Amino acid sequence: MPLPAHLTLHQGELHFEGVSLERLAREHGTPLFVYSKAAILQALAAYQRGLAGRQQLICYAMKANSSLAILQTLVRAGCGLDIVSGGELERALTAGCAPERIIFSGVGKTRAEMRRALEVGIGCFNVESRAELDVLDEVARALGQRARVSIRVNPDVDPKTHPYISTGLKGNKFGIAHGEVLQTYRHAAACAGLEVVGIDCHIGSQITETAPYLDAMDRVLDLVAAIEATGIRLHHVDFGGGLGIDYNGDAPPAADALWPQLLAKLDARGYGDRTVMIEPGRSLVGNAGVCLTEVLYTKPGEHKNFLIVDAAMNDLPRPAMYQAFHRIEPVRPRGGDAPVWDVVGPVCESGDWIGRDRALAVQPGDLLAVLSAGAYCMSMASNYNTRGRAAEVLVDGDDATVIRQREGAADQMRLETLLG
Ligand SMILES: *Cc1c(COP(=O)(O)O)cnc(C)c1O
Repeated sequence: MPLPAHLTLHQGELHFEGVSLERLAREHGTPLFVYSKAAILQALAAYQRGLAGRQQLICYAMKANSSLAILQTLVRAGCGLDIVSGGELERALTAGCAPERIIFSGVGKTRAEMRRALEVGIGCFNVESRAELDVLDEVARALGQRARVSIRVNPDVDPKTHPYISTGLKGNKFGIAHGEVLQTYRHAAACAGLEVVGIDCHIGSQITETAPYLDAMDRVLDLVAAIEATGIRLHHVDFGGGLGIDYNGDAPPAADALWPQLLAKLDARGYGDRTVMIEPGRSLVGNAGVCLTEVLYTKPGEHKNFLIVDAAMNDLPRPAMYQAFHRIEPVRPRGGDAPVWDVVGPVCESGDWIGRDRALAVQPGDLLAVLSAGAYCMSMASNYNTRGRAAEVLVDGDDATVIRQREGAADQMRLETLLG
């Protein structure tokens, strides 16, 4: 299977761009996240090509990977940011994102988060319930402001057509149900503290087919027509994120193939003049990162062989959380026998596995690269078992920069108080 972009086997050893992964592991220790700047920019360029010639704003959904240098990389390349918390707002500002290029999504914004976002002047709130609209209206009026809002609609794509995303669409906590959209817009338009500017949807995550996007766009444009018939003008259409990546032979549509099809629908319905906003997360960074880990022990068994590595569920939570698959490749592949292993971490949980039933020729001390680790890994990492979070390195050509130092035990205890 081909390796992700900018990851190559060079002289028998994995490199990200021009940098040897073995050298990085030796210099900075393991577990270690390594990202490729070129891979991030290449993923972004596909969206930029797909939206070329439009009034558009690509807001990177920073929950996928919120490390400051990753944010800077995307912001400098022209992205706005999609945030889901007050903490992410502070990161976005620290990374240099212009406040008006920040949009605030999520079902549970607090009053304090709304206030801070209004004070710094973010571009738009993506509102997910009638109750949230009312609180935002109240907070904005108290500040003597009008909050720009877009309402997240649930486009209710037929789950029979697309069973794989049905849980993302029916009976879930996200968005306003299709049937309640019009009355919610009318209500928002009547609130003195709100300025209705757009509509948005986000139909799911790791979507690898085109059809659900096309269906959702049709449904959203039906709603745009109905909303505008009531006299409310929508300046932007925000189509969310969710485009999948190749974890294991998945073949998601390319952003520059998908977007012309979606834009054709906008044009055909007469909405080609609206600003197009999108919120991609995983598809910008997921395959631009690997996690390097060292094999600590081999533990062959009667029923299973275990390969115990120094990365764990606190570093790579996706397998434990969603039974997710990450490819695992030796950094310096060796010949010989490749027994089948369950690759597991040192954490005291049976759920602490990184890959199951993997044929690998390895010995203790070997390095493995866990692929597709750029999204929803470091940003979900925890300190379970008082394990410090891994260090991170950003590669750019032949250069490598440490963008986050390894977390020590003292870092983890800093906010705690011993009893006297
Ligand atoms: C998580 C999320 C995204 C990004 O999703 P990806 O699958 O990472 O592209 C975009 N918009 C909203 C509202 C989200 O919650």
